[in-house]
Amino acid sequence: MQNGSLTEDQRLLLLEQLETSITSLRQELASRLMALGSTRARALAHHLLYEERDVRDIVGTELDGREYDCWISRATELENALADFQTGEYGWCEQCSSPIRFQKLRSQPAARQCDGCDAISSKPGLRRAGQRWSYQLG
Ligand SMILES: [Zn+2]
Repeated sequence: MQNGSLTEDQRLLLLEQLETSITSLRQELASRLMALGSTRARALAHHLLYEERDVRDIVGTELDGREYDCWISRATELENALADFQTGEYGWCEQCSSPIRFQKLRSQPAARQCDGCDAISSKPGLRRAGQRWSYQLG
């Protein structure tokens, strides 16, 4: 299966963007751990940056529930999107199988739904399919 309606150039651009986003997430998380100040948190930040450790291992030990969930959900969405690249599922809406617009993927690289399905699932009372990748800590 091809990746949605994307051209090869667009695909490469999005792949690069996903990889950059994952790197940024790790750097952002490392800064957060450094800010905690403890020797342990600083050691974990170092592991995260230089030893390719899984975000789940790092975060679970130092951060509490809500913040932990937020980091994990962001990391998981990006990793899933990257995995979709390997299987050819990237760029297709998981609800209706329509191609997702390139511009939408540029602004939300981990988007899994087309605009139409996003509009439906963001209506109150309807189930949301996971958190948005751009969800920020309050
Ligand atoms: Zn859709």
